[in-house]
Amino acid sequence: MGTVVEAANKGASGSILQKRNPTIVFVLGGPGSGKGTQCANIVEHYGYTHLSAGDLLRAEIKSGSENGTMIQNMIKEGKIVPSEVTIKLLQRAMEESGKDKFLIDGFPRNEENRAAFEKVTGMEPSFVLFFDCPEEEMERRLLNRNQGREDDNIETIRKRFRVFLESSVPVISYYDAKGKVRKIDAARPVEEVFASVKAIFEPKNEKAD
Ligand code: ADP
Ligand code: AMP
Repeated sequence: MGTVVEAANKGASGSILQKRNPTIVFVLGGPGSGKGTQCANIVEHYGYTHLSAGDLLRAEIKSGSENGTMIQNMIKEGKIVPSEVTIKLLQRAMEESGKDKFLIDGFPRNEENRAAFEKVTGMEPSFVLFFDCPEEEMERRLLNRNQGREDDNIETIRKRFRVFLESSVPVISYYDAKGKVRKIDAARPVEEVFASVKAIFEPKNEKAD
């Protein structure tokens, strides 16, 4: 079995989606910065389809797939699951949805994710929504999340913070240099954060220029 990039080079993937020319918004921010919470609001108001990389990976574990145990172990350690797994899940979800406006939440998590996604799908995000939040606040939120997540314990949370700083922040910097980052102060109450989100999603600003 080849990698996703090899598959793309053979022209094996990306085409169905590419033809639909979908709008893609990457939603990034540290663990607990409120990505999922705000994505739910954006779906409700602006008709996007929300795809959370973490949710797709957790569903893959539950489905009993051959990769399930590997994914579960990586999530427990706060590590980044290999691109070929995550990108396949995202591509499948986009194709099966039949929709053309996507919020991709929690992806790309590192430079390799980013480069592989662009190469495999032939698509780039219109812009990147970045929820900026201090670690102390994110830690408080995650410890109170109460969704029974195996990775919401202090030891894994600290590992996830380190991975975010070392691997994901450079991705945000990459898109910032291209003028594609829309940064939001996410340390405020949900409604205030959403007021800033709305200003970005109003129709005239929907596509980055
Ligand atoms: P992420 O998807 O970035 O990991 P979530 O949206 O799941 O973050 O939010 C983490 C926790 O913090 C949840 O319990 C959520 O209800 C809560 N939360 C989200 N946004 C805020 C906010 N602006 N202020 C306080 N708590 C929040
Ligand atoms: P999240 O639900 O976004 O908090 O993600 C939970 C965990 O899933 C992360 O700590 C990673 O282990 C894994 N994960 C989520 N998104 C990705 C991704 N894009 N690439 C690789 N692993 C991911």
